[in-house]
Amino acid sequence: MAGAGWAPPRLDEYILTEPLGSGTYATVYKAYRKRDTREVVAIKCVNKRSLNRASVENLLTEIEILKTIRHPNIVELKDFQWDGDHIYLIMEFCAGGDLSRFIRMRRMLPEKVARVFLQQLACALKFLHDRNISHLDLKPQNILLSAPENPQLKLADFGFAQYMSPWDEKHVLRGSPLYMAPEMVCRQHYDARVDLWSVGVILYEALFGKPPFASRSFAELEEKIRSDRAVETDLVVEAVRKDQEGDAAAAFSLYRKALEYFVPALHYESDVRRKEAIRAKVRQYISRAEELKVLVTSSNKNLLEKGNPARELLKEMAKDKPRLCAALEVASAAIAKEEEGRDDSDALELYQQSLGELLLLLAAEPAGRRRELLHAEIQTLMARAEYLKDQIKMREAQSMGKEALAESVRSACTLQ
Ligand code: ADP
Ligand code: MG
Repeated sequence: MAGAGWAPPRLDEYILTEPLGSGTYATVYKAYRKRDTREVVAIKCVNKRSLNRASVENLLTEIEILKTIRHPNIVELKDFQWDGDHIYLIMEFCAGGDLSRFIRMRRMLPEKVARVFLQQLACALKFLHDRNISHLDLKPQNILLSAPENPQLKLADFGFAQYMSPWDEKHVLRGSPLYMAPEMVCRQHYDARVDLWSVGVILYEALFGKPPFASRSFAELEEKIRSDRAVETDLVVEAVRKDQEGDAAAAFSLYRKALEYFVPALHYESDVRRKEAIRAKVRQYISRAEELKVLVTSSNKNLLEKGNPARELLKEMAKDKPRLCAALEVASAAIAKEEEGRDDSDALELYQQSLGELLLLLAAEPAGRRRELLHAEIQTLMARAEYLKDQIKMREAQSMGKEALAESVRSACTLQ
Protein backbone atom coordinates (compact mmCIF):
# COMPACT_ATOMS: atom_id res chain seq x y z
CA MET A 1 0.00 0.00 0.00
CA ALA A 2 2.87 2.39 0.71
CA GLY A 3 5.12 3.97 -1.93
CA ALA A 4 4.67 5.60 -5.29
CA GLY A 5 2.00 3.17 -6.48
CA TRP A 6 -0.35 4.09 -3.67
CA ALA A 7 -3.66 5.54 -4.85
CA PRO A 8 -6.66 6.98 -3.00
CA PRO A 9 -9.59 4.60 -2.41
CA ARG A 10 -12.22 4.35 -5.15
CA LEU A 11 -15.78 5.46 -4.86
CA ASP A 12 -18.46 4.98 -7.52
CA GLU A 13 -19.85 8.49 -7.61
CA TYR A 14 -16.70 10.52 -6.93
CA ILE A 15 -13.24 11.08 -8.31
CA LEU A 16 -10.81 11.42 -5.42
CA THR A 17 -7.81 13.67 -6.03
CA GLU A 18 -5.18 15.10 -3.70
CA PRO A 19 -5.08 14.44 0.06
CA LEU A 20 -6.02 17.51 2.11
CA GLY A 21 -4.85 16.27 5.46
CA SER A 22 -4.84 13.32 7.79
CA GLY A 23 -5.14 12.37 11.42
CA THR A 24 -4.91 9.15 13.40
CA TYR A 25 -7.69 7.19 11.70
CA ALA A 26 -8.54 9.10 8.58
CA THR A 27 -7.22 10.73 5.45
CA VAL A 28 -9.23 13.51 3.87
CA TYR A 29 -9.21 13.89 0.07
CA LYS A 30 -10.42 16.57 -2.27
CA ALA A 31 -12.94 15.00 -4.67
CA TYR A 32 -15.39 15.72 -7.52
CA ARG A 33 -18.82 14.30 -8.03
CA LYS A 34 -18.71 12.38 -11.32
CA ARG A 35 -22.14 13.21 -12.63
CA ASP A 36 -24.20 16.40 -12.92
CA THR A 37 -22.57 19.39 -11.34
CA ARG A 38 -19.05 18.03 -10.78
CA GLU A 39 -19.40 19.54 -7.34
CA VAL A 40 -16.18 19.74 -5.28
CA VAL A 41 -16.29 17.99 -1.92
CA ALA A 42 -13.93 16.75 0.80
CA ILE A 43 -14.10 13.06 1.62
CA LYS A 44 -12.86 11.77 4.94
CA CYS A 45 -11.84 8.15 4.41
CA VAL A 46 -11.59 6.00 7.50
CA ASN A 47 -9.88 2.64 7.15
CA LYS A 48 -12.08 0.13 8.96
CA ARG A 49 -9.09 -1.98 9.93
CA SER A 50 -7.60 0.87 11.95
CA LEU A 51 -10.71 1.13 14.11
CA ASN A 52 -11.04 -0.40 17.54
CA ARG A 53 -14.32 -0.41 19.42
CA ALA A 54 -13.88 3.02 20.94
CA SER A 55 -13.07 4.60 17.60
CA VAL A 56 -16.08 2.96 15.93
CA GLU A 57 -18.18 4.58 18.65
CA ASN A 58 -16.49 7.92 17.98
CA LEU A 59 -17.08 7.68 14.25
CA LEU A 60 -20.74 6.85 14.73
CA THR A 61 -21.19 9.81 17.07
CA GLU A 62 -19.43 12.05 14.54
CA ILE A 63 -21.79 10.94 11.78
CA GLU A 64 -24.85 11.15 14.01
CA ILE A 65 -24.05 14.66 15.20
CA LEU A 66 -23.00 16.09 11.84
CA LYS A 67 -26.00 14.56 10.09
CA THR A 68 -28.48 16.24 12.40
CA ILE A 69 -27.04 19.75 12.57
CA ARG A 70 -26.74 22.60 10.08
CA HIS A 71 -24.95 25.81 10.85
CA PRO A 72 -23.00 28.27 8.67
CA ASN A 73 -19.93 27.84 10.94
CA ILE A 74 -20.02 24.05 11.12
CA VAL A 75 -18.75 21.93 8.25
CA GLU A 76 -21.64 20.29 6.43
CA LEU A 77 -21.82 16.52 6.16
CA LYS A 78 -23.47 15.89 2.79
CA ASP A 79 -23.55 12.13 2.83
CA PHE A 80 -21.80 9.04 4.09
CA GLN A 81 -20.98 5.73 2.44
CA TRP A 82 -18.98 2.60 3.10
CA ASP A 83 -17.45 -0.39 1.36
CA GLY A 84 -15.45 -3.44 2.51
CA ASP A 85 -12.43 -1.43 3.64
CA HIS A 86 -13.54 2.12 4.29
CA ILE A 87 -16.14 4.42 5.70
CA TYR A 88 -16.52 7.71 3.85
CA LEU A 89 -17.76 11.03 5.19
CA ILE A 90 -18.61 13.29 2.28
CA MET A 91 -18.32 16.89 3.43
CA GLU A 92 -18.45 20.37 2.00
CA PHE A 93 -14.98 21.36 0.72
CA CYS A 94 -13.25 24.18 2.59
CA ALA A 95 -10.87 25.78 0.10
CA GLY A 96 -9.08 27.89 2.76
CA GLY A 97 -7.57 24.82 4.49
CA ASP A 98 -7.36 24.66 8.26
CA LEU A 99 -6.71 27.45 10.77
CA SER A 100 -3.38 25.98 11.85
CA ARG A 101 -1.96 26.38 8.34
CA PHE A 102 -3.63 29.78 7.99
CA ILE A 103 -1.90 31.09 11.14
CA ARG A 104 1.46 29.51 10.22
CA MET A 105 1.44 31.15 6.79
CA ARG A 106 0.84 34.59 8.29
CA ARG A 107 2.96 33.95 11.43
CA MET A 108 0.23 35.58 13.54
CA LEU A 109 -3.14 37.16 12.84
CA PRO A 110 -4.06 40.82 13.24
CA GLU A 111 -6.42 41.46 16.13
CA LYS A 112 -9.17 42.48 13.69
CA VAL A 113 -9.10 39.10 11.95
CA ALA A 114 -8.81 37.14 15.21
CA ARG A 115 -11.84 38.99 16.55
CA VAL A 116 -14.05 38.00 13.60
CA PHE A 117 -12.85 34.38 13.82
CA LEU A 118 -13.58 34.29 17.53
CA GLN A 119 -17.10 35.56 16.92
CA GLN A 120 -17.73 32.85 14.33
CA LEU A 121 -16.30 30.15 16.57
CA ALA A 122 -18.48 31.40 19.42
CA CYS A 123 -21.56 31.19 17.16
CA ALA A 124 -20.80 27.56 16.31
CA LEU A 125 -20.18 26.66 19.97
CA LYS A 126 -23.30 28.39 21.23
CA PHE A 127 -25.30 26.45 18.67
CA LEU A 128 -23.69 23.16 19.78
CA HIS A 129 -23.96 23.78 23.48
CA ASP A 130 -27.64 24.74 23.14
CA ARG A 131 -28.04 21.20 21.81
CA ASN A 132 -25.93 19.69 24.59
CA ILE A 133 -23.10 18.83 22.23
CA SER A 134 -19.49 19.28 23.34
CA HIS A 135 -16.76 19.18 20.70
CA LEU A 136 -13.91 18.17 23.04
CA ASP A 137 -11.17 18.44 20.40
CA LEU A 138 -11.10 22.14 19.58
CA LYS A 139 -7.78 23.12 18.00
CA PRO A 140 -6.70 25.06 14.91
CA GLN A 141 -6.26 21.84 12.88
CA ASN A 142 -9.97 21.10 13.36
CA ILE A 143 -11.19 24.54 12.34
CA LEU A 144 -11.51 25.00 8.59
CA LEU A 145 -11.79 28.05 6.37
CA SER A 146 -14.39 28.26 3.63
CA ALA A 147 -12.11 30.16 1.21
CA PRO A 148 -8.62 31.71 1.08
CA GLU A 149 -10.10 35.24 0.81
CA ASN A 150 -12.73 36.54 3.25
CA PRO A 151 -12.96 33.14 4.87
CA GLN A 152 -15.75 31.90 7.08
CA LEU A 153 -14.79 29.55 9.88
CA LYS A 154 -16.19 26.03 9.76
CA LEU A 155 -15.82 23.86 12.80
CA ALA A 156 -14.89 20.28 11.80
CA ASP A 157 -13.70 16.89 13.09
CA PHE A 158 -16.41 15.81 15.49
CA GLY A 159 -14.53 12.55 16.14
CA PHE A 160 -14.40 13.19 19.89
CA ALA A 161 -17.67 15.09 20.21
CA GLN A 162 -20.14 13.97 22.85
CA TYR A 163 -23.69 14.62 23.88
CA MET A 164 -23.25 16.18 27.31
CA SER A 165 -25.81 18.05 29.36
CA PRO A 166 -24.42 20.91 31.48
CA TRP A 167 -24.45 18.76 34.65
CA ASP A 168 -22.77 15.75 33.00
CA GLU A 169 -19.32 14.95 34.29
CA LYS A 170 -16.94 12.82 32.27
CA HIS A 171 -13.67 11.08 32.96
CA VAL A 172 -12.31 9.89 29.62
CA LEU A 173 -9.43 12.02 28.32
CA ARG A 174 -10.09 13.42 24.87
CA GLY A 175 -8.45 15.92 22.56
CA SER A 176 -4.94 17.28 22.21
CA PRO A 177 -2.96 18.06 25.37
CA LEU A 178 -1.88 21.52 24.15
CA TYR A 179 -5.50 22.67 24.09
CA MET A 180 -6.79 20.70 27.07
CA ALA A 181 -8.33 22.36 30.10
CA PRO A 182 -6.44 21.90 33.40
CA GLU A 183 -9.26 19.85 34.95
CA MET A 184 -8.93 17.37 32.10
CA VAL A 185 -5.13 17.27 32.08
CA CYS A 186 -5.06 16.66 35.80
CA ARG A 187 -7.42 13.71 35.22
CA GLN A 188 -10.20 14.96 37.39
CA HIS A 189 -13.78 15.33 36.34
CA TYR A 190 -14.60 17.70 33.57
CA ASP A 191 -17.73 18.98 31.93
CA ALA A 192 -18.92 20.92 28.87
CA ARG A 193 -16.89 23.97 29.90
CA VAL A 194 -13.60 22.46 28.70
CA ASP A 195 -14.41 23.66 25.16
CA LEU A 196 -14.20 27.21 26.43
CA TRP A 197 -10.65 26.73 27.69
CA SER A 198 -9.58 25.47 24.25
CA VAL A 199 -11.10 28.57 22.65
CA GLY A 200 -8.83 30.71 24.83
CA VAL A 201 -5.78 28.72 23.78
CA ILE A 202 -6.77 29.00 20.11
CA LEU A 203 -7.26 32.76 20.40
CA TYR A 204 -3.81 33.10 21.98
CA GLU A 205 -2.25 31.03 19.20
CA ALA A 206 -4.00 33.15 16.56
CA LEU A 207 -2.62 36.37 18.08
CA PHE A 208 0.90 35.20 18.94
CA GLY A 209 1.49 32.40 16.44
CA LYS A 210 2.14 29.75 19.09
CA PRO A 211 -0.03 28.09 21.73
CA PRO A 212 0.63 29.49 25.22
CA PHE A 213 1.80 26.19 26.73
CA ALA A 214 4.04 24.91 23.93
CA SER A 215 6.33 22.37 25.62
CA ARG A 216 8.89 19.71 24.89
CA SER A 217 7.25 17.00 26.98
CA PHE A 218 3.91 16.09 28.45
CA ALA A 219 5.26 16.55 31.98
CA GLU A 220 6.41 20.09 31.16
CA LEU A 221 3.05 20.84 29.55
CA GLU A 222 1.14 19.51 32.55
CA GLU A 223 3.25 21.68 34.85
CA LYS A 224 2.59 24.77 32.74
CA ILE A 225 -1.17 24.21 32.50
CA ARG A 226 -1.45 23.57 36.25
CA SER A 227 0.59 26.61 37.20
CA ASP A 228 -1.11 29.94 37.79
CA ARG A 229 1.85 31.99 36.62
CA ALA A 230 0.98 34.61 34.00
CA VAL A 231 1.89 33.52 30.47
CA GLU A 232 4.99 35.31 29.17
CA THR A 233 4.37 36.23 25.59
CA ASP A 234 6.88 35.75 22.82
CA LEU A 235 6.73 39.48 22.33
CA VAL A 236 8.37 40.04 25.69
CA VAL A 237 10.94 37.28 25.17
CA GLU A 238 11.79 38.78 21.78
CA ALA A 239 11.90 42.32 23.23
CA VAL A 240 14.39 41.23 25.88
CA ARG A 241 16.53 39.51 23.24
CA LYS A 242 16.58 42.59 20.97
CA ASP A 243 17.37 44.71 23.99
CA GLN A 244 20.35 42.49 24.86
CA GLU A 245 21.54 42.65 21.25
CA GLY A 246 21.50 46.42 21.53
CA ASP A 247 18.71 46.94 18.98
CA ALA A 248 16.91 49.63 20.96
CA ALA A 249 14.42 50.56 18.25
CA ALA A 250 13.19 46.98 17.76
CA ALA A 251 13.11 46.33 21.51
CA PHE A 252 11.13 49.51 22.09
CA SER A 253 8.49 48.66 19.53
CA LEU A 254 8.19 45.05 20.84
CA TYR A 255 7.75 46.24 24.43
CA ARG A 256 5.09 48.63 23.23
CA LYS A 257 3.24 45.86 21.41
CA ALA A 258 3.50 43.56 24.44
CA LEU A 259 2.05 46.27 26.66
CA GLU A 260 -0.97 46.51 24.41
CA TYR A 261 -1.80 42.96 25.51
CA PHE A 262 -0.72 43.16 29.13
CA VAL A 263 -2.65 46.26 30.03
CA PRO A 264 -6.08 44.81 29.20
CA ALA A 265 -4.99 41.57 30.91
CA LEU A 266 -4.29 43.61 34.00
CA HIS A 267 -7.65 45.28 33.69
CA TYR A 268 -9.62 42.05 33.47
CA GLU A 269 -7.70 39.92 35.98
CA SER A 270 -9.87 39.39 39.04
CA ASP A 271 -7.47 37.30 41.12
CA VAL A 272 -5.65 39.71 43.45
CA ARG A 273 -2.37 37.81 43.51
CA ARG A 274 -2.16 37.40 39.76
CA LYS A 275 -3.21 41.01 39.23
CA GLU A 276 -0.30 42.14 41.41
CA ALA A 277 2.13 39.94 39.44
CA ILE A 278 0.93 41.34 36.11
CA ARG A 279 1.09 44.87 37.49
CA ALA A 280 4.73 44.40 38.52
CA LYS A 281 5.56 43.15 35.01
CA VAL A 282 3.72 45.99 33.30
CA ARG A 283 5.55 48.51 35.46
CA GLN A 284 8.89 46.94 34.61
CA TYR A 285 8.16 46.88 30.85
CA ILE A 286 6.92 50.45 30.87
CA SER A 287 10.04 51.78 32.55
CA ARG A 288 12.34 49.88 30.17
CA ALA A 289 10.28 51.08 27.20
CA GLU A 290 10.64 54.69 28.40
CA GLU A 291 14.42 54.33 28.67
CA LEU A 292 14.59 52.79 25.21
CA LYS A 293 12.45 55.55 23.80
CA VAL A 294 15.01 58.15 24.91
CA LEU A 295 17.78 56.09 23.31
CA VAL A 296 15.85 55.68 20.07
CA THR A 297 14.98 59.35 19.70
CA SER A 298 18.51 60.52 20.38
CA SER A 299 20.01 58.03 17.94
CA ASN A 300 17.51 59.24 15.35
CA LYS A 301 18.78 62.75 15.90
CA ASN A 302 22.35 61.54 15.37
CA LEU A 303 21.30 59.92 12.14
CA LEU A 304 19.74 63.15 11.03
CA GLU A 305 22.88 65.10 11.77
CA LYS A 306 25.15 62.49 10.22
CA GLY A 307 23.23 62.91 6.98
CA ASN A 308 24.22 66.55 6.76
CA PRO A 309 27.62 66.64 4.95
CA ALA A 310 26.32 64.35 2.21
CA ARG A 311 23.18 66.44 1.96
CA GLU A 312 25.22 69.63 1.52
CA LEU A 313 27.32 67.96 -1.16
CA LEU A 314 24.20 66.81 -2.97
CA LYS A 315 22.80 70.33 -2.87
CA GLU A 316 26.09 71.59 -4.35
CA MET A 317 25.83 69.05 -7.15
CA ALA A 318 22.19 69.97 -7.82
CA LYS A 319 22.91 73.61 -8.59
CA ASP A 320 22.32 73.24 -12.35
CA LYS A 321 19.06 71.32 -11.80
CA PRO A 322 16.30 73.65 -10.62
CA ARG A 323 13.75 70.86 -10.03
CA LEU A 324 16.16 68.86 -7.92
CA CYS A 325 17.15 72.01 -6.02
CA ALA A 326 13.52 72.79 -5.28
CA ALA A 327 12.72 69.25 -4.14
CA LEU A 328 15.75 69.25 -1.82
CA GLU A 329 14.58 72.57 -0.41
CA VAL A 330 11.23 70.99 0.44
CA ALA A 331 13.08 68.11 2.11
CA SER A 332 15.11 70.58 4.20
CA ALA A 333 11.89 72.32 5.20
CA ALA A 334 10.47 68.95 6.29
CA ILE A 335 13.52 68.26 8.44
CA ALA A 336 13.39 71.74 9.95
CA LYS A 337 9.69 71.29 10.72
CA GLU A 338 10.36 67.96 12.34
CA GLU A 339 13.20 69.30 14.47
CA GLU A 340 10.95 72.11 15.57
CA GLY A 341 8.84 69.25 16.91
CA ARG A 342 5.50 71.01 16.95
CA ASP A 343 3.51 69.63 14.08
CA ASP A 344 4.47 66.14 12.89
CA SER A 345 1.72 65.92 10.30
CA ASP A 346 2.94 69.09 8.58
CA ALA A 347 6.45 67.68 8.53
CA LEU A 348 5.19 64.38 7.17
CA GLU A 349 3.28 66.16 4.42
CA LEU A 350 6.47 67.97 3.38
CA TYR A 351 8.49 64.73 3.46
CA GLN A 352 5.94 63.06 1.23
CA GLN A 353 5.84 65.97 -1.18
CA SER A 354 9.63 66.06 -1.56
CA LEU A 355 9.90 62.28 -1.81
CA GLY A 356 7.36 62.16 -4.63
CA GLU A 357 9.44 64.57 -6.65
CA LEU A 358 12.83 63.11 -5.69
CA LEU A 359 11.78 59.61 -6.72
CA LEU A 360 10.80 60.88 -10.17
CA LEU A 361 14.13 62.66 -10.49
CA LEU A 362 16.03 59.59 -9.33
CA ALA A 363 14.42 57.56 -12.10
CA ALA A 364 15.77 60.02 -14.67
CA GLU A 365 19.19 60.48 -13.04
CA PRO A 366 22.13 58.88 -14.91
CA ALA A 367 24.56 56.67 -12.99
CA GLY A 368 27.25 58.52 -11.09
CA ARG A 369 28.14 60.16 -7.79
CA ARG A 370 25.07 62.42 -7.78
CA ARG A 371 22.77 59.48 -8.28
CA GLU A 372 24.39 57.63 -5.37
CA LEU A 373 23.97 60.62 -3.08
CA LEU A 374 20.39 61.16 -4.18
CA HIS A 375 19.63 57.50 -3.59
CA ALA A 376 21.04 57.61 -0.06
CA GLU A 377 19.21 60.84 0.69
CA ILE A 378 15.90 59.38 -0.44
CA GLN A 379 16.42 56.41 1.86
CA THR A 380 17.11 58.66 4.84
CA LEU A 381 14.06 60.78 4.09
CA MET A 382 11.85 57.71 3.71
CA ALA A 383 13.01 56.34 7.04
CA ARG A 384 12.23 59.68 8.67
CA ALA A 385 8.78 59.78 7.06
CA GLU A 386 8.04 56.20 8.21
CA TYR A 387 9.09 57.06 11.74
CA LEU A 388 6.83 60.10 11.79
CA LYS A 389 3.95 58.10 10.39
CA ASP A 390 4.38 55.61 13.23
CA GLN A 391 4.41 58.38 15.78
CA ILE A 392 1.26 59.90 14.37
CA LYS A 393 -0.48 56.53 14.25
CA MET A 394 0.48 55.83 17.83
CA ARG A 395 -0.94 59.11 18.97
CA GLU A 396 -4.15 58.56 17.01
CA ALA A 397 -4.57 55.10 18.48
CA GLN A 398 -4.10 56.54 21.91
CA SER A 399 -6.69 59.23 21.49
CA MET A 400 -9.15 56.98 19.65
CA GLY A 401 -10.68 54.36 21.89
CA LYS A 402 -7.41 53.63 23.66
CA GLU A 403 -8.04 56.12 26.42
CA ALA A 404 -8.91 53.26 28.70
CA LEU A 405 -5.62 51.60 27.86
CA ALA A 406 -3.62 54.76 28.43
CA GLU A 407 -5.48 55.25 31.69
CA SER A 408 -4.56 51.77 32.93
CA VAL A 409 -0.93 52.31 31.95
CA ARG A 410 -0.91 55.50 33.94
CA SER A 411 -2.48 53.91 37.00
CA ALA A 412 -0.09 50.96 36.73
CA CYS A 413 2.81 53.41 36.70
CA THR A 414 1.65 55.43 39.64
CA LEU A 415 0.83 52.44 41.79
CA GLN A 416 4.34 52.19 43.18
P1 ADP B 1 -8.86 13.59 11.80
O1 ADP B 1 -9.99 13.05 12.60
O2 ADP B 1 -8.04 12.52 11.17
O3 ADP B 1 -8.06 14.61 12.56
P2 ADP B 1 -10.06 15.81 10.33
O4 ADP B 1 -11.51 15.78 10.06
O5 ADP B 1 -9.60 16.71 11.42
O6 ADP B 1 -9.53 14.32 10.54
O7 ADP B 1 -9.27 16.21 8.99
C1 ADP B 1 -7.85 16.20 8.92
C2 ADP B 1 -7.35 17.41 8.15
O8 ADP B 1 -7.85 17.36 6.80
C3 ADP B 1 -7.81 18.75 8.69
O9 ADP B 1 -6.93 19.24 9.70
C4 ADP B 1 -7.79 19.63 7.44
O10 ADP B 1 -6.48 20.11 7.18
C5 ADP B 1 -8.18 18.68 6.32
N1 ADP B 1 -9.64 18.72 6.06
C6 ADP B 1 -10.58 18.04 6.74
N2 ADP B 1 -11.81 18.30 6.28
C7 ADP B 1 -11.67 19.18 5.29
C8 ADP B 1 -12.61 19.88 4.41
N3 ADP B 1 -13.92 19.67 4.51
N4 ADP B 1 -12.11 20.76 3.51
C9 ADP B 1 -10.77 20.97 3.44
N5 ADP B 1 -9.85 20.35 4.23
C10 ADP B 1 -10.28 19.48 5.14
MG1 MG C 1 -8.54 16.52 13.21
